[in-house]
Amino acid sequence: MKKTWTYDKAKTLFDLPFNDLLYKAHTVYRKNFNSNAIQISTLLNIKKGGCSEDCAYCSQSARHKGSVEPKRRVDLNTVREAAKQAKLLNCSRLCMGAAWRSPTEPDMDAICEMIQIVKSYGLESCVTLGFLNEEQTNKLKNAGLDYYNHNIETSPSYYEKIVTTHSFEDRLKTLEYVRNAGIKICCGGILGMGEANEDRIRMLVVLTNLPSHPQSVPINKLIPMPNTPLEMVPEMDAFDFIKTIALARILLPLSDVRLSAGRSTMSDEMQALCFFAGANSIFYGDTLLTAKNQSMQQDEILFNRLGLKKR
Ligand code: SF4
Repeated sequence: MKKTWTYDKAKTLFDLPFNDLLYKAHTVYRKNFNSNAIQISTLLNIKKGGCSEDCAYCSQSARHKGSVEPKRRVDLNTVREAAKQAKLLNCSRLCMGAAWRSPTEPDMDAICEMIQIVKSYGLESCVTLGFLNEEQTNKLKNAGLDYYNHNIETSPSYYEKIVTTHSFEDRLKTLEYVRNAGIKICCGGILGMGEANEDRIRMLVVLTNLPSHPQSVPINKLIPMPNTPLEMVPEMDAFDFIKTIALARILLPLSDVRLSAGRSTMSDEMQALCFFAGANSIFYGDTLLTAKNQSMQQDEILFNRLGLKKR
């Protein structure tokens, strides 16, 4: 049965000596997973830039002066090529992200076709399309969608310092539609946006107390993008990042915890500690939506050095 966590209980864990917290997290990890096997996802940006929202970390928001040049939605051939490539690289899932507040009906039709293409390559499909209504969610389910990504990003109280064009509750509503439609949920957040450890703990407490745990929990480390409001935010403490991963593993024992954006700014040793603490999934590929990722060659070298296998 799912355990209920309070902020105080989660904070007590977070405040343990580093070795004790990592030992606890690794014990939970080893009990539920093969701790040497990593799930690999790859990411395709299917509609870049020009987004109406004002997420302070995002270079795709049209509201920031240095936002990326907007592009039209990609065609189906681009998705076919990305799926072929993901299969060749032994990835198990292709995630497709679009920069908009929510999809229009023509977008929905195209995305359903994209999902079917991804599935035809024997890959799991994941999309991140912003806010959905109930009808759109059911349409994605009928198209065969496996995962829907919709992050809560941070604690409820810090969220309004990061985004003003929509609310934390709006995010929860879309998650509810997705859960009710029977689509698996991918939901996590970003660390290093100037928030305190308290916000990181509160974000995980929200996730663990959802009606069911998200099956996938991406934890990003902010890559400060030029000309966004967060470009000058100081880098967060590496140990606090690793401790947050460990807490995620304990509070969400059966979820895949993904080291997402920001691996390119982490040392191999920091990533190894994250894997020990319970991170068991990564994004693979030289670019993420707009940011640089650790190169695939470096990933292969790191996996070999650590004896990790792709799941
Ligand atoms: S994070 Fe998503 S919703 Fe927010 S500005 Fe970027 S693309 Fe738009």
